[in-house]
Amino acid sequence: AIYSLGSINIDHIYRVPHHTQPGETLAATDYTRGLGGKGANQSVAAAMAGAKVFHIGAIGRDDAWTLDLLRDYGVDTANIQQIKTATGHAIIQVDPSGENAITLYPGANRQISDAQVARVLANARPDDTLLLQNETSAQFASVRLAADMGLRVLYSPAPFELTPLQDVIPFTTLLAMNEGEAAQMISTFGGLPDCDVIITKGAQGAEWHRLNAQTLTIPAFDVHAVDTTGAGDCFAGTIAAALDAGMDREQALTRAAAAAAIQVTRHGAASAMPSRADVDEFLAP
Ligand code: ADP
Repeated sequence: AIYSLGSINIDHIYRVPHHTQPGETLAATDYTRGLGGKGANQSVAAAMAGAKVFHIGAIGRDDAWTLDLLRDYGVDTANIQQIKTATGHAIIQVDPSGENAITLYPGANRQISDAQVARVLANARPDDTLLLQNETSAQFASVRLAADMGLRVLYSPAPFELTPLQDVIPFTTLLAMNEGEAAQMISTFGGLPDCDVIITKGAQGAEWHRLNAQTLTIPAFDVHAVDTTGAGDCFAGTIAAALDAGMDREQALTRAAAAAAIQVTRHGAASAMPSRADVDEFLAP
């Protein structure tokens, strides 16, 4: 099973004629609301890929619809607490050229306690997986406990931040990041850590580095991308599901690249994650 310590955000997306200036009041021309957050996206990707996914997180009291939606995608939501703090959310302005300006409020995502995670992980088994990124609290306690219990720890250091990164890396089995994050990592630490590292390179594909082993590379599948939001989360969630199911590196990499290729041909993030059957069909000769 996969234990996904992850952010749940509500994305409020406004189409605007231009980005608001200081002091300006501007009418948006369109509004949509959706489920987002790297954690929720990764949980959905992994569940759609066929894994049993226990999401560990927190939301505010008024947003139970996010739990309904996660359950619709197959994610177990029993360990998501509803608390008094506002649900994490993003106010996203999109101008006619497609450029974003985003205000993010982490809210409940940063109120996840070490004790909450410990209670959930008490049910985990050594062949399970902990999946996490940088948008919550409680990362350090979680990875220490997971590593102690022998779990595989798959970590996306995004958005790039020194804490929890420095705390989490020593307990990480597999680090998954994009080229921008890899560049920041190399310039900050002078190199990559000793654990397994996957670097995704958008339409250039992905590479899996392992200490004292040959680097595995996979080109991206040739598709017509319409929206790459959440591609990295799709990739990470699918890798987690594949490894959790016992697949080897090559199989896992192939399925993740295929899933992400399908995902970028669809609009949306969580709602664009392909099912296991979609990926089977995509890879069928
Ligand atoms: P992030 O979303 O974190 O920036 P990337 O842009 O590196 O991550 O994308 C993650 C993975 O998604 C890539 O390694 C690739 O497999 C797939 N992908 C992204 N963009 C495309 C594309 N235009 N065509 C095909 N696959 C893509």
